[in-house]
Amino acid sequence: MNMISTQTPTAELQALDSAHHMHPFTNGDVLAKRGARVVTRAEGVWLTDSENHRILDAMSGLWCVNIGYGHDSLAEVAAKQMQELPYYNTFFMTTHVPVIQLANKLAEIAPGDLNHVFFASSGSEANDTNLRMVRAYWQAKGEPDRQVVIGRKNGYHGSTMAGMSLGGMAGMHKQGGIIPGIHHINQPNWWTEGGDMSPEEFGLARARELEEAILEIGPEKVAAFIGEPVQGAGGVIVAPETYWPEIQRIVDKYGILFISDEVICGFGRTGEWFGFQAMGTKPDIITTAKGLSSGYIPIAASIVNDKVAAAIDSVEFNHGYTYSGHPVACAVALENLRIMEELNLVDYVKNDIAPYLAEKWHSLGDHPFVGETKIVGMMASLALVPEKGSRKPFEAAPGTVGFMTRECCFGNDLIMRHVGDRMIIAPPLVITRDEVDELIARARKSLDEAYEKVKAAGLMKSA
Ligand code: PMP
Repeated sequence: MNMISTQTPTAELQALDSAHHMHPFTNGDVLAKRGARVVTRAEGVWLTDSENHRILDAMSGLWCVNIGYGHDSLAEVAAKQMQELPYYNTFFMTTHVPVIQLANKLAEIAPGDLNHVFFASSGSEANDTNLRMVRAYWQAKGEPDRQVVIGRKNGYHGSTMAGMSLGGMAGMHKQGGIIPGIHHINQPNWWTEGGDMSPEEFGLARARELEEAILEIGPEKVAAFIGEPVQGAGGVIVAPETYWPEIQRIVDKYGILFISDEVICGFGRTGEWFGFQAMGTKPDIITTAKGLSSGYIPIAASIVNDKVAAAIDSVEFNHGYTYSGHPVACAVALENLRIMEELNLVDYVKNDIAPYLAEKWHSLGDHPFVGETKIVGMMASLALVPEKGSRKPFEAAPGTVGFMTRECCFGNDLIMRHVGDRMIIAPPLVITRDEVDELIARARKSLDEAYEKVKAAGLMKSA
């Protein structure tokens, strides 16, 4: 076994991988036949695989490598921290310097009264924390019946039991069901579900489903609402402009807590530090992970406002993880945030590269295969359509055409994902204009190829 190395031939690595490694969100039998792509190195926005392909990573790994690959200083601070204090916990009235530094830094970055941080190691765990925290909050406030959290269909909040249940991914719910006390309303996806309404009307209608749900459940039983500023894994779904102000009005009216899941949207992705700032909302709790360390090490944080922290602090919150505030992860996250500030990355996104990417991304809208193009900061999507000028879906099973298109992207050494028949990107925030040009050129070439294949397969029919 210890003979396995990056020098091992690809086919052998693939066979060994499939023999013993169970991949997330993957059909193992299909993978065994095909073999996984073996990524060996990365630099900037570029991956290298075991066959020496140079691949443009337009997904930042899993939406996380915000500062790009190859920053040695993160490795250096990790090594130094491992030598000095590789581990200690923050249970039982103890603490350490990196966790103090990071909590203070996050309180400084997060606007308003989001001043308190509870650490975890992944976005899913942080959302587990949030679920427990909002219920503990209402218990501490003397309203223990407030248990229900309202999420949205096609929202994504993680893959643990709580994260999966808060999310609204039907395929995940089907495998084992969800935990009690969670309710889902419809998503603000105008393209697929808007019918004859204008986007503005539809945005209001979908937001008002929150009010309807609160009234149906009983306001005295509702603890919180959770949503992503832009639904990432759901297909980079950008709500109509009328949506978020109405959501904010409703959470304020009924006094329920508002959790903004910033796992993707946080740390510059939208051109603000956090996505809720781009949407103009005022959450009580934000979930962060991914971009907090640019994916160099697992770490996540629930950042909560003074009101929630005061209630939680008034009791013993019986919750925590062995790796909450892990010193090495905190040190790496701090270095990541230092680099973000040194590079002025949030400003670069907002005023330079995101507007440039937007212009280029929208230029794909003239393709006969493309319906709408959407972009917020450095996350974008486009709808593949069988009939230009119409929002009708393909007749083929959802995702068939998207998958074919993704395969063409793979063939052109471009990592662009598909969600159903939507293509999505979320490149590292450090991407240059030349690299954006390369991304768009590869995307257009892939769309051309996929269009021909889909036509040849007789799939350009609408349902
Ligand atoms: N929330 C959102 C919005 C996410 O996109 C994700 C992961 N894609 C998660 C939570 C879960 O994070 P993790 O995979 O780190 O558990």
